[in-house]
Amino acid sequence: MAAASKQNTDSTVNIPDYEETNVNSKPFHVDSFRNEWLRRLKPGDWSHQHEDEDTFDANFAEDMGVSAETMAELKAVCSVDSLRCHPKDQQPDTDVVPPDPRLSTLIQRKKKQDYRASLKITKNRHDLYADELERLTVGGQPETEEDKLPEGEVILTINVYYPASFAKFNYIRPHTSLLMTGSHTLAELRDAICCVSDLQVLGEFSGTPDMAPDFISKELYKSAFFFFEGVFYNDTRFPECKDMSMTIIEWAKARNFPPYSQAVMEDTRLVDLKLKVGFPYLYCHQGDCEHLVIVTDVRLTHETDCLNKKLYPLLIHKHRISTQKCAVCHVFIGRWLTTKDRLAPSDPCLFCDKCFRMLHYDAEGNKLGDFLAYSFVDRGAFN
Ligand SMILES: [Zn+2]
Ligand SMILES: [Zn+2]
Repeated sequence: MAAASKQNTDSTVNIPDYEETNVNSKPFHVDSFRNEWLRRLKPGDWSHQHEDEDTFDANFAEDMGVSAETMAELKAVCSVDSLRCHPKDQQPDTDVVPPDPRLSTLIQRKKKQDYRASLKITKNRHDLYADELERLTVGGQPETEEDKLPEGEVILTINVYYPASFAKFNYIRPHTSLLMTGSHTLAELRDAICCVSDLQVLGEFSGTPDMAPDFISKELYKSAFFFFEGVFYNDTRFPECKDMSMTIIEWAKARNFPPYSQAVMEDTRLVDLKLKVGFPYLYCHQGDCEHLVIVTDVRLTHETDCLNKKLYPLLIHKHRISTQKCAVCHVFIGRWLTTKDRLAPSDPCLFCDKCFRMLHYDAEGNKLGDFLAYSFVDRGAFN
């Protein structure tokens, strides 16, 4: 009895339960949760093999406790083919809404169709982008058995938010949503996060504008960490990486906070994590560029998922922002930011490369007047 109840608590401890209703779960270990699923489900439930219709019908009849004849009759009666609002011998075009529809769904559909038809451009960039993502995943069948996601693998949906320093975007939808498999490491998650602060070029370049884009912050400052459930996962892949978490751990220790520990980002797979679904965690890089990271879903793979391993981490959503244009031509994306610039209409002022050079340098490339120039990376340039 005691053993049975112990086993019971052991197996339920890693099944997510709400900590805050409809907000986040209690912490659980991802791999134990996966194993619990595999133990309780029938192999057919998570198999990637498509079940043929007869087997499906037989299983369904058995689950429902009905005979094969009743099943066949139900199938015929409930079939979509029996739902008709037109004579049997006519096959109407389902894309055409009949004139003067009375059904609310059809009225809405007609409204939408009429609106679309009135547009000059039929697809906006969001639609185009959604199509692009779909093209990537739908056709993305693995070429070899090796590239195929194994059955029983878990998929995590991860939302990464804009850094807290972009106050304008604090209340906005996630910057990116990714699907990752349980066998990905945190370092792979880090590499999949695209943040503008990694691409910034530090320094003032008004004297030597041609020298500017040679090195970017990502190559210069490689340290970063994730923070999940009291553990700092540090990136230690490169000799230049510094342990950014130690200062915080010592600070917390001196103030009697619960103890924090450390682990290595590249050695930690997502299934190794203990986490709460729906709870905000932290990704910090470039010293103080802090992003919230929320795991919104942990589930087993399904035969309808993109099964090509190579396409993961799979980007499923990316927030798009408008680009900031050059203050002179209003056409090209800003590339230079100047301050203390007597030639500029504002301080600071944004220029595209062409306007910047035409205004600030003579034909020989000599600097005209006093100003400070910084390389500028537009957030919208990733769209
Ligand atoms: Zn960042
Ligand atoms: Zn310009």
